This record gives sequence, C-alpha cells and structure tokens, in this order.
Amino acid sequence: MRATPSPGRVGDVRRQNLALILTGLLSNGQATRAQLAAESGLTKASVSSLVADLIDAGLVQESSVTRDGERGRPGTGIILNPARGALGAEINVDYLAVGVLDFTGQLRFHETLERHNRASRPGEVFTLLVTMARRAADAAQAAGIELLGGGLTVPGLVDTERDVLINAPNLGWAGVGLSAELQKLLPGSRFGVTLSNEANSAALAELWFGHGAMFHGARFKDYLYLSGEVGVGGGLVIGSELFAGPHGHAGEIGHMVVHPDGPRCTCGGHGCLEKFAGQHAIFLAAGIGGESTVAQTAHLLRSLAEGNVRATAAVEQAGHYLGVAVASAARLTNVPAVVLGGHFAVLEPWLGPALRRSLANYAPGLIPDGNIAFSRLREPAALMGAAGSSVRNVLGRSYELIS
Ligand SMILES: [Zn+2]
Repeated sequence: MRATPSPGRVGDVRRQNLALILTGLLSNGQATRAQLAAESGLTKASVSSLVADLIDAGLVQESSVTRDGERGRPGTGIILNPARGALGAEINVDYLAVGVLDFTGQLRFHETLERHNRASRPGEVFTLLVTMARRAADAAQAAGIELLGGGLTVPGLVDTERDVLINAPNLGWAGVGLSAELQKLLPGSRFGVTLSNEANSAALAELWFGHGAMFHGARFKDYLYLSGEVGVGGGLVIGSELFAGPHGHAGEIGHMVVHPDGPRCTCGGHGCLEKFAGQHAIFLAAGIGGESTVAQTAHLLRSLAEGNVRATAAVEQAGHYLGVAVASAARLTNVPAVVLGGHFAVLEPWLGPALRRSLANYAPGLIPDGNIAFSRLREPAALMGAAGSSVRNVLGRSYELIS
C-alpha cells in the first residue's frame, strides 16, 4: 500500500505551479506540454517535471492529439484523468439524488429517488441517501473510477466551516450538524465530502457545464442564477466566481419580497418570490393537486399545451413576479444576465414571454434579451456543481497526493 503523502513535502512555489498546470487543463480540456508552458510562463523542463508528478499522482494522463491541418505524428496531449472522480449528492424537498462526476466533467452515473423529505427526520433521509451513495460508489468502481471526494448540496442556508445546515424552511430542518453524515456518504475518501447550498451549486454547474462539458462551458461571466424547485434559490456569479457574501448566504432571491401584502412564507416573512414562482405555488394557482411533483408537473405541462386558462395564468404570474425580483436584483448588483434552471427551464415557452414583459416593464433595457437564458442542465445541475466543487478542491490540493 502506498504511504500517505505528507502535505509538507512540496514547496510553495511548486504547489502554485502545479495549480497553474491544472487550471490550464481545466479551462482547455487538453493541452500539450508546450501549450501548458506557453500559457503558464513556465519553462518546458519545469512543465515536464510537474506533469510527471501529476501523472504519478494519478491526476492527469497522456492522450494523443492531432492538430487540424498538420501532417506527421500526432502530438502527446495531457488531460485530466477520467479514471478519477467525485461523488455528488443532493437532498431536495421532493427527491434525493446521487451522481458520479469524473475529472473531465462527465456525469458517469446518476440516480434520483422521488420522495417527500419534508415530513422526514434528517436521520431517516440520510439512511436512504447513504444507501444510494454506496450504489454510486459501486458504479464508479465498476467503471474504474476512483472517487477522491464529494459534495452534498441541500436547499437551505449552510455553514460550510462547521458542516451545519442552518435552516432549510421547505424541509422543516434547522440547526442540523452533518459532519458524521457527510463522512458516511463516502467513507475513507481522501478529501472528504463538503456541504453546499443547492442554488449556489447549480449556479456553479451552469458556469462550468452550462454550454458544453469539461469545466469550460460558461455563456456569461457575470449572471444571476435562479433555481426553480419547491423553493426558489439563487446564486450570484461575478467574474466567473460565486459571490456568496460575507457569511455565504448572498443571492437568496427566493425570499425577496415581490408583493408586500402577499401570502405568508416558510421563512416567516410575507409575499416572497417563492410564494408565486415556487413549484407548489404554481401548482396551487393552477388548481393542480396530487401527491407527486413529477405527476403534477406532467399535469401542468399537459394543461399548458392544451391552452388551459388557469394553468397559463399561474405560470404567467410566476414569470411576472420573477421579472419584478430580477429587475431589483439586477439594479442592486449591476449583473447583466440571468440564467433560469430547474422547473423554470421546463416552463420556458410559457414563462419566458411573461418574464421578458415584466423585465421590460420594471427595468427597461437593463438586461438585453439575449442575456435571459434558460439552463440546459435540468435536474442534475446542483449535484454536478457540488461534485465539480469537490474536483476543483482536489486539484487545488494536488500537492497532497505527490510524494
Ligand atoms: Zn420567504
């Protein structure tokens, strides 16, 4: 068995240079040693030595590249190792999900279990999620992927330093310490499992995978991401970085007040965006009952396709209030683009026009039409973001794997 490498053995300069090489690979997918040297400003000899260490540590591997229009032998490219990966896991109000993301940004396994978690205690939910995580780990092993870490994402405010779920109103959970549960999701993993907010993770997934795979898919560098689930979550991306605020809770657009006399919200306030644009709010306004979100969504889409007046009005009302919230948020942050994911993306044909009208009414000219985008990632977005954060964390600490 290989001895555990000591973090102290690699000097600071080498650590920074390793990070430079890996960042270059993340943004390009693959590169030759010469390209890595040109981009990083390091000598070719240095790059070769760093790459040799990274190959030894199992983080990168060689691949053949053929350059367009060039004759002769194909060059040797370097790629992140697709046989390394991270676990993604998500607890949401009405489903649980797990997935395996490899280092090249491909989702290699994904499983969702539809389930009402609102009425359940955390322990009960984690028992199920741990079983699902084990199946994901088995699938990774069968595919020859070593999982080095993972990320769990939840629909609520989190304290990432202490692994505490501070408050998830739609789950009815508050002040839940999760250190032990995080460990159980991926026992013995080298870099552990980290906790994140669902909308922040989905916002990052949009940045990395929204417009193509391999960690370089951004359509915009600055945008507000809105995640439509039972609740409405938000994430602010500024300069291709998540802006989480001083305590990590910025971007909570779902609880922005859009109607001061509106209905009471799970957060204790009144008239929040979520009470008009959350899944349950739309179903209620459309008069669609039922137990399962999947069935209710199918019912809503059928009604919309048939031109049902009440269903159309419910979705248009959601679009209207989304516009009100986005107009104010864009004024405050100066962010020029908005990306909508989750059920907002599914409802695009009906929601989009109402949102555009509302934005044109409350913030004319502020967000150009081409900067209103709907995510293509659908449901795995948040867990891909959580797993992607774990991959980036491992790459940032690559020196710990070098002996
Ligand atoms: Zn609220």
